[in-house]
Amino acid sequence: MFEVAIIGLGPAGSTLARLLNNPDVLCLDNKTFQPGGFEKPCGGLLAPDAQKALARFDLTLPKSVLVDPQLFAVRTLDLASGLTRHYQRFYINMDRQKFDRWLQTLIPAAVTVQHGAQVTRLARRPDGCFEIIYRQGGQEHTALARRVVGADGADSLVRRTFFPRHRVRSYVAVQQWFAETHTSPFYSCIFDPRETDCYSWSVSKDGYFIFGGAYPAADCRARFERQKKALEQRGFRFGAPLKTEACRVLRPAGWKDFCLGKNGVFLIGEAAGLISPSSLEGISSAMISAQKLAAALGTAPSAAEHRRYARGTRGLRLKLWSKLIKCPFMYQPFLRRCVMQSGLASISIIH
Ligand SMILES: Cc1cc2nc3c(=O)[nH]c(=O)nc-3n(C[C@H](O)[C@H](O)[C@H](O)COP(=O)(O)OP(=O)(O)OC[C@H]3O[C@@H](n4cnc5c(N)ncnc54)[C@H](O)[C@@H]3O)c2cc1C
Repeated sequence: MFEVAIIGLGPAGSTLARLLNNPDVLCLDNKTFQPGGFEKPCGGLLAPDAQKALARFDLTLPKSVLVDPQLFAVRTLDLASGLTRHYQRFYINMDRQKFDRWLQTLIPAAVTVQHGAQVTRLARRPDGCFEIIYRQGGQEHTALARRVVGADGADSLVRRTFFPRHRVRSYVAVQQWFAETHTSPFYSCIFDPRETDCYSWSVSKDGYFIFGGAYPAADCRARFERQKKALEQRGFRFGAPLKTEACRVLRPAGWKDFCLGKNGVFLIGEAAGLISPSSLEGISSAMISAQKLAAALGTAPSAAEHRRYARGTRGLRLKLWSKLIKCPFMYQPFLRRCVMQSGLASISIIH
C-alpha cells in the first residue's frame, strides 16, 4: 500500500516525485526512452516562466539537454493578411526527451519508479483506497495506494476515469520532423484561420526542421498538409518527413476547464488543464502545480489537502485564465492584423 501513486513522469510527475522524496510514493510511467518507445511530441522550448520555476528549485540545466541553435526571435506569419513580423523571445531551445529524462534522474532513490508501465485501469475500492492496474513487460500488475495523482498529460486516464464528465477544450497537435535545409535556421509562429483557430509553429533543432500545429480534430491531418503547401509558397522547405507525431493538446477556454481533482484523486500539469491558452506553453504550469501539491499533501488523506492544493494553485490558475484576455489580440484576425500592422513590440531584421 503506497501513500501516493503518481501516474505519469513528465515535468509534473517527476517534479512531484522529486519533492515528495518518500518511500511511500510509487511512480508509473509508460516511457522507456528506448528507440521506438513513446516520445512526447513537443516544441521543446523552455519559456521564461519554466526557467523561473527551475531557478526557484535551485536547478541548473545540463548542457546535454540543449540543442543547436539557440533562438532569439520568432518570425510571426499571418497567412490571412500576409503580414510578417519578428518579435524578440527568451526561450531555451532544448531536446524535450532529454529534458524529461533529466527530470527523472532527479527523483530520489527512496521513491519507487516503474518505467515502461502503462496504466490501463484505475478503481476506487470500498475502503476508499485505489487499485491501479498496469501492464509492464507483457504482464499485468496491480498496485494499491491511498491517493492517486494524475500527472498523465492532456489525455489523462485518471481524469477520464474519475471525472468522466469534465471536458476541456482540446486540439490535435500534429508535428513532423525533416532534415533542415534552410540556409538560416529559424523559429516561426503561424496564424492561418482557414485551417485552425489555434496556431502552428516551426523550429530548427540539431539539424532537423520541425513543423507542427494544433488543429480541430476533424480533418486535422488534411489541414496540416494544406498548411505545409501554403507555407512552401512562403519559402518553407519540408522535403520527406523523417518522423510524424500527433497527440492531444488542451487549451482551457475558461476557469471551469481547470480540474484539480477531489476525494483522494489529484490532477497536476496538463491533466488538470493547466496550460497557457495563448501559447500552449505547459512545462512551467506542470512544475509549479507539482510543487503546490507537494506542499499541500499531509500525513493522511483529507479534504484539507484538496483545499490547500486549490489555494496554492489559485495564482497559477488566475495567470492562465488572464491569458484568455490576450487571446483575441493573437487569434481574432482583425485585431491580430491591427496589432501586427502597428509593429508594436516587433523588431526589424537587419541583413
Ligand atoms: C506538439 C506540442 C508542442 C508543445 N510545445 C511546448 C513547448 O515548446 N514548451 C512548453 O512549455 N510546452 C509545450 N507544450 C505543452 C507541454 O508539452 C505540456 O503542457 C507539458 O508536457 C505538460 O506536462 P505534464 O507533466 O503535465 O504532462 P506530459 O508531459 O504530457 O507527461 C505525461 C506523462 O504521463 C505518461 N502517461 C500518460 N498516460 C499514461 C498511462 N496511462 N500510463 C503510464 N504513463 C502515462 C506519459 O508518457 C508522459 O510521460 C507542447 C505540447 C504539444 C502537444
